[in-house]
Amino acid sequence: MKVIQNYIDGRFVSGKRQFADVNPADGTLIAQVTEADDAQVDEAVNAARRAVQGEWGRLGIRERTSRLHRVADAIEKRFDCFVQAEVADTGKPISLASRLDVPRAAANFRVFADLVKMAGLESFQAETPDGAGALNYAVRKPLGVVGVITPWNLPLLLLTWKVAPALACGNSVVVKPSEETPATATLLAEAMQDAGIPRGVYNVLHGFGPGSAGEFLTQHSGVDAITFTGESKTGAAIMKSVASTVKPLSFELGGKNAAIVFADCNFEEAVSGLSDAVFLNTGQVCLCAERVYVERKIFDSFVEALKRKAEGLHPGWPSDEKTDLGPLISAQHREKVLSYYRLADEEGATVITGGGVPKFGDNRDQGFYVQPTIYTGLPESARCVKEEIFGPVCHVAPFDSEEQAVAMANDTKYGLAASIWTSDLKRGHRVAQQMKVGITWVNCWFLRDLRTPFGGAGLSGIGREGGMHSLNFYSELNNICIRL
Ligand code: NAD
Repeated sequence: MKVIQNYIDGRFVSGKRQFADVNPADGTLIAQVTEADDAQVDEAVNAARRAVQGEWGRLGIRERTSRLHRVADAIEKRFDCFVQAEVADTGKPISLASRLDVPRAAANFRVFADLVKMAGLESFQAETPDGAGALNYAVRKPLGVVGVITPWNLPLLLLTWKVAPALACGNSVVVKPSEETPATATLLAEAMQDAGIPRGVYNVLHGFGPGSAGEFLTQHSGVDAITFTGESKTGAAIMKSVASTVKPLSFELGGKNAAIVFADCNFEEAVSGLSDAVFLNTGQVCLCAERVYVERKIFDSFVEALKRKAEGLHPGWPSDEKTDLGPLISAQHREKVLSYYRLADEEGATVITGGGVPKFGDNRDQGFYVQPTIYTGLPESARCVKEEIFGPVCHVAPFDSEEQAVAMANDTKYGLAASIWTSDLKRGHRVAQQMKVGITWVNCWFLRDLRTPFGGAGLSGIGREGGMHSLNFYSELNNICIRL
């Protein structure tokens, strides 16, 4: 049986305990994973400290960023390995992993390497009371050792989204990927070796959250900052855990995202865009729309068209190029999603399509598939309309005015993303600017420019990453004031 090891100080290392890595498509065992204990967390943090104080810390920006370009090249050289590992761990369709996850991982390294080289810094010239004047300018320094904790839904994409800017700014990292998807973080260690990234700069610890590698990492006094993507309630636990050591935190958390579809939209484009926004990656993207508000005039025809899209999806083996709907990540997550399907019934929803588990008549019946599901008819106060489900499911509700649509979309404790579908450009701007979220798309969804700010309001996060915002989080700015 394959064993996925921790990667500490440039070496792959085993440990005393192991846990299972399961293929969500059929429930079979992919590998055993080494769980890092607190001594290994300590070793990794110490190795990361030595790396920032050693060769890595001394490299000039030109050499550092050229090695990050080499990491991108090394990912591309191992493209098929990364795709296969990601597909096996997550159950996502191979077409998605090849088009999105792995290319984005390489892009993350290139974009942040280039950005840090180009980034300017503030400077101010001021007059002093005696007329001598002063020049203020800032220099960028690494924070030191950054703890990176990531989820299972876009494992490599989200991990590199944090690792790339952290390394570009000269930090070292200790990463704790999700226990559900350990493979690609470990493969990335091989790419780091190929690219000449010195030992200790990139360390991988496998394990769980509380009482395991995740918590040990957040509590470690040698970690200078924590960047985390995952559930809002985990963010709250991490916040408590780091409080006594006062570390900078960046949180990208959950969502209950809304889409607003106006009657003047391009109907076909809106249906197709919403079908992606609800069902992509089996609804397991933090940006997915679980609440769809449709202007009453087109409500029935829109629901009917979205239903046809849902029923046209092809749930299949993740390695089949034709598959566009994979399983959910785990038996436990499927139970959570199915509990919301049952709750929707109890709350009085009308089931437009789905609501259950597909039957295949082969080994996929031991996997964690659910049907793509559309509900209507729930009150806005229903738990299914309020709580993040994180599956291939949405509730569609009608609205009569722009004001009402904005109020319904904003009536949530989350604030990650929204999408607006309209042919009226003025309305697009007007409504977008009223959304209480980190990102609003107009007539599109999940179109990402890595230079833009990314993050959430409310329960959806703290801070922004992306472009200069990442560089600012992963560095310490030192202002220098010179009396002239
Ligand atoms: P999760 O919070 O359960 O786990 C995320 C990571 O945190 C895992 O590595 C886990 O082991 C670790 N962890 C759990 N408890 C911990 C603790 N007490 N201390 C330290 N580490 C701990 O999230 P998940 O189920 O893996 O991912 C799904 C969630 O992530 C959804 O809520 C989704 O919306 C959110 N998400 C947000 C974004 C974003 O950019 N805002 C992106 C993707 C996913």
